[in-house]
Amino acid sequence: MAEKSENLMEKVVSLCKRRGFVYPSSEIYGGFAGFWNYGHYGAILKENIKCLWKQRFIFDREDMFVTDTTIISNPKVLEASGHVKNFGNEIFKVEIGTGEETTTSHLRAETAQGIFTDFKNVVDTHHPKLPFGIGQVGKAFRNEISPRDFIFRSREFEQMEVEYFVKENDWEKYFQEWVEKMRAFGKEIGLVQTIELQVAPEDRAHYSKRTVDFQFDYPFGRGELWGLAYRTDFDLKNHGLEYFDEESGDRLVPHVIEPSLGVDRTFLAILLSAYTEDDLGGERRAYLKLPKNIAPVRAAVFPLLKNKPELVAKAREVYAMLKKEIPNIEFDDNGNIGKRYRRQDEIGTPSCITIDFDTLGETPDLKDTVTLRDRDSGEQERVRIEDLKEKLR
Ligand code: ATP
Repeated sequence: MAEKSENLMEKVVSLCKRRGFVYPSSEIYGGFAGFWNYGHYGAILKENIKCLWKQRFIFDREDMFVTDTTIISNPKVLEASGHVKNFGNEIFKVEIGTGEETTTSHLRAETAQGIFTDFKNVVDTHHPKLPFGIGQVGKAFRNEISPRDFIFRSREFEQMEVEYFVKENDWEKYFQEWVEKMRAFGKEIGLVQTIELQVAPEDRAHYSKRTVDFQFDYPFGRGELWGLAYRTDFDLKNHGLEYFDEESGDRLVPHVIEPSLGVDRTFLAILLSAYTEDDLGGERRAYLKLPKNIAPVRAAVFPLLKNKPELVAKAREVYAMLKKEIPNIEFDDNGNIGKRYRRQDEIGTPSCITIDFDTLGETPDLKDTVTLRDRDSGEQERVRIEDLKEKLR
């Protein structure tokens, strides 16, 4: 039976290292506290999370724009936003320029400010009607006093944020819509459970009038996964920005709802939710039960034996045919078949395809069929090569 494991955190951290998801940054020099590198499969998983977020939060909708703004801005931006005053040494100082002509600025602590300062550009270019939103994915930096718990609290991380601009009277309705949107996203990426906490006024950020924290039960305790904040008109007002409502002829400062999702905490919560151990065929195994649409590898194609050129050639042919339509297909002929299954299970590959002598026609009825193995059940079925694409969709 599949079950959650003891020492889950240690096991996930070790899997991340062993299978190339996450490594300590600068590891050959002893690492660097609060900084992490994503390896091959980790970088793909992270990219898949960001793509799915963009799809659901931006591209599936008609009221959203996307942007990609700088990490370093004119120092006036973070002064107006209150970051310099409220976060003090928690934000990284940087010197821009050389010699005597230097300017002190800071690395952004959230992606949001670039969106606010581009608000006027977006309105002037696209003339959107309220409500509308602008989203972006990008790095943020915080000089955390005690970075800890793997990628949960680091000094360099990534965020997926939307600033959604509404008329003041409508904020509660849209706030609730975003709560539901975030819930649905959590489900789609396979999170076991998120807990929604109304944040008390004294614990809210300086700009917020209502905040819901989406929390997750990490093995080291319950902690924030994402935040949803009603930022009022705080930011646009501070930047001296307003909106001309063509319908009513009014000038107004829109209010802002902000769903803010950390990529790295999402990544961690996904792995912790997906990590499963069971007994399969009398052997203990660990696998990642990742949803198909974010798994780094959708399917792996194997020749049953590496040293039989006819099997390898046929496996290469099937692999090339599938890869044209489904890019995240992997060819794997390393070690025996049991080892390959274990490796693919551990990186969360939903399906494995094996080319054997029956594929080549040893049993005439089975010519041009392969075995398709399901990650979660370990069950295998015989499938015609021409039906594979459909099966993998
Ligand atoms: P915490 O209370 O845990 O420090 P926060 O309330 O300061 O988090 P926000 O300012 O709401 O976090 O940032 C939005 C999102 O960015 C968080 O929900 C989280 O996913 C992510 N995030 C914030 N700080 C970090 C960090 N140091 N490392 C990784 N992700 C972070």
